[in-house]
Amino acid sequence: VLTTRRDGSSPPPWDGLNVAGHVGDDPDRVAANRAALQVGIQPAHGLAWADQVHGADVAVVTGAGTSSGVDALVTRVPGLALAVQAADCLPVLLAEPVVGVVAAVHAGRQGLVAGVLQAAVQAMVDLGADPGRTSAVLGPAVCGACYELPQELADDVGAAVPGSRSTTRQGTPAVDLAAGAEALLSGLGVRTARVGGCTLEDPDRFFSFRRDGQTGRHAGLVWLE
Ligand SMILES: [Zn+2]
Repeated sequence: VLTTRRDGSSPPPWDGLNVAGHVGDDPDRVAANRAALQVGIQPAHGLAWADQVHGADVAVVTGAGTSSGVDALVTRVPGLALAVQAADCLPVLLAEPVVGVVAAVHAGRQGLVAGVLQAAVQAMVDLGADPGRTSAVLGPAVCGACYELPQELADDVGAAVPGSRSTTRQGTPAVDLAAGAEALLSGLGVRTARVGGCTLEDPDRFFSFRRDGQTGRHAGLVWLE
């Protein structure tokens, strides 16, 4: 499941379904938004969140709660929904239905370069998953025509994550997070599908840090039935 900013109880600039507690919103409202999300999807064992740091560390989780310092969550526990939050960074949701392993990954520029997707797939493999039976949904993120970066930085990302270098509509250096993630996952044998479009270009549905600065975060969630 990929949430949008619609519904929820937060006022501007976090309006409305902000799931992030680190962006200045009232913690009670964030808790209410997360609770409403949980009611909406009814996972038997609740929600597992990550306190994300734009790194490549993975937590294998077995119960609800928050894992600190990780950008990827992996589980084999049915009914435990894994949740990552983003507002331009790319949420990636992975599932291997035969063995029964899922992962939720926060894959922004820094995480992609650090290897968070490879680390998440490896953690799934360690739990018995076969990448050839694994599917990945790439959620909404700032697109390759919007994500402008200084040339040197864009080139560095392009070198570290083949397929990610792009140019903006104005012809300036840019990075395409989804294209980079797609190339990376395909190289590991994982099937991919893109859902959701560009966060920066869709203010009605998505939060965008690059567009708005202080704003909320939407969520990507995955769980085993
Ligand atoms: Zn865009």
